[in-house]
Amino acid sequence: MTVDVLGKFEPAWTTCHLSLSKYALRLTRRDLRIMIGLLTGHAYLNRHLTLMKVRSDPTCPLCQEEEGTALHLLGRCSALSTTRFTLSGLYRMDYTELGNIRWPLLLKLAKASRRFL
Ligand SMILES: [Zn+2]
Repeated sequence: MTVDVLGKFEPAWTTCHLSLSKYALRLTRRDLRIMIGLLTGHAYLNRHLTLMKVRSDPTCPLCQEEEGTALHLLGRCSALSTTRFTLSGLYRMDYTELGNIRWPLLLKLAKASRRFL
């Protein structure tokens, strides 16, 4: 537990967010853009591009099975299951499991998809 500037005890999650902030600030501009896109859904993925009327098909181009969202790419895309297993030990990850994965691993998986070149 840490003490903030007002002398109050901060909950553990605040310390965790500071750690994530420090991690994010050390990223390159390109990697930070990828992470922000994944976290907000405003990523260079077909679902978002379709909403922006840049593309007409929201389907994931890697597997053609579901809409290309960040959740799909990181947790469910069958085209990345081997890569996901190599990096995380899981072939698929649901929303809760993705929430427990460290940001560097999410970034590695996203970059391994080659969707952010
Ligand atoms: Zn896919």
